[in-house]
Amino acid sequence: MILAGKKVASKERVVVRSPYDTSIVGEVSRALEVDVQRAVETARRGFTILSGQTSYDRYRTLTRLAGILSERAESIARTISSEMGKSIREARAEVARGVETVTWSAEEAKRLYGSTVPMDAAPTGRGKVGLYLRVPVGVIAAISPFNFPLNLSLHKIAPAYAAGNAFILKPAESTSLTGEMIGEAFVDAGAVPEAVNVLTGSGSQIGRALVSHPGIRLITFTGSRDVGEWITRNAGLKRVVMELGSNSAVVVCGDAVPTGIVKRVAMGGYSQAGQVCISVQRVYVHESIFDTFVDLLGQQVRSLKTGDPLDESTDVGPLIAGKEVERVRSWIDEAVSNGAELVCGGTVRGNVMAPAVLADARETDRVVRDELFGPVIVVNRFRDDAQAIKMVNDSRYGLQAGVYTNDVGRAFKYARELDVGGVLINEIPNFRVDHMPYGGVKESGIGREGPRFAVEEMTEIKLVVFHLD
Ligand code: NAD
Repeated sequence: MILAGKKVASKERVVVRSPYDTSIVGEVSRALEVDVQRAVETARRGFTILSGQTSYDRYRTLTRLAGILSERAESIARTISSEMGKSIREARAEVARGVETVTWSAEEAKRLYGSTVPMDAAPTGRGKVGLYLRVPVGVIAAISPFNFPLNLSLHKIAPAYAAGNAFILKPAESTSLTGEMIGEAFVDAGAVPEAVNVLTGSGSQIGRALVSHPGIRLITFTGSRDVGEWITRNAGLKRVVMELGSNSAVVVCGDAVPTGIVKRVAMGGYSQAGQVCISVQRVYVHESIFDTFVDLLGQQVRSLKTGDPLDESTDVGPLIAGKEVERVRSWIDEAVSNGAELVCGGTVRGNVMAPAVLADARETDRVVRDELFGPVIVVNRFRDDAQAIKMVNDSRYGLQAGVYTNDVGRAFKYARELDVGGVLINEIPNFRVDHMPYGGVKESGIGREGPRFAVEEMTEIKLVVFHLD
């Protein structure tokens, strides 16, 4: 736990264990309700101090932060891999992306533009000159998930700081060590200490005190749909930005060539053992190439190596907890008992599940309908574009979708008609660069991330009007 930029002791501890072999990775102080009050008071002071800094000061701090994260890349990556279970190669890639996110955010500190308002365009506006400024909202609570403990925390607090806000970061309990490392890096980069607060602890224990606190002006949350909805109900009169789950789909049209696509689809379904919000879950393949596609995908998936995430050759590590393994396995069993074919995978060793491919599952099975968040891809067939679009859209979620086709007219039809936050043509839905607008429609979320877009969410418009005659 970090308050006012300093590590703080608590009566209770969070013990972080490896999801691969349950060994202890480290310990931190557990934040309790009383710490929420202290954190908000500290952050409000931090906001006042930060208000005395220039945009350039904040740009410099964030630039230094990017440098510090680069210097500490290997130790942060090993911590992420140990406490979250993603492979060490994926963890290194996350750190590299985190550096990008901070670098983009630093640039945004220089781009807090307002605009003039043509007041005299109204019948009563004679003599008036108007303009608006973009000002920070104040204190931001940033609640982040376990699956990208570094980059998704940075997607919140780096733009928040760029815009001049103080923050309280609440990382997932299972990835508390990364959360603390982020706070330390901010302080070492010369950030206003009071503006940097990290509450390591349990969401259910301190969540209500945090999200309902009137001293917080915006909650930016990434996590599951149900927790997101609970936060929205309990937040009161404050802004919320919600980055929630999905059951992302890929459509492979009859004019696409399956050979290259299966490799990409497998990457999209099993990276981080499928624990990615935009993981490939549903693949709709035109009936003319369905059998070839399933064969090729099966071959590709069988070649993936499972095991210890810290082993350089591991492709697929463990799921975050045993109960998640049981849940995913029970969903596979349900689909198979309803007639789906288990093409490969699904066997379990500890918390590691062999990557699974299911074919011809029912659209009503949980593996299709709900967010799977595990190493399973479901391949179903479609007849024509209208049917594929209907199946993709028949979901409570709408984050990103991929479409493979060589027909530009068809690509545009999908882009227009898919009800999602982002459509990727000839690419899997997992693709993301960190400055693009990112977020979902329907129950996948509210608002957008990507530093420029996050800064918009985290600032208010302040109008100034001069009467000049
Ligand atoms: P989660 O909802 O269980 O937890 C997310 C965070 O919320 C954690 O920090 C947790 O401690 C906290 N929390 C839990 N209960 C709370 C409460 N009552 N009040 C306040 N905070 C509370 O999610 P998770 O298991 O860590 O992450 C997986 C989920 O996140 C998946 O659904 C995934 O799709 C989603 N996700 C979405 C995106 C996106 O950008 N849309 C990105 C990554 C993950």
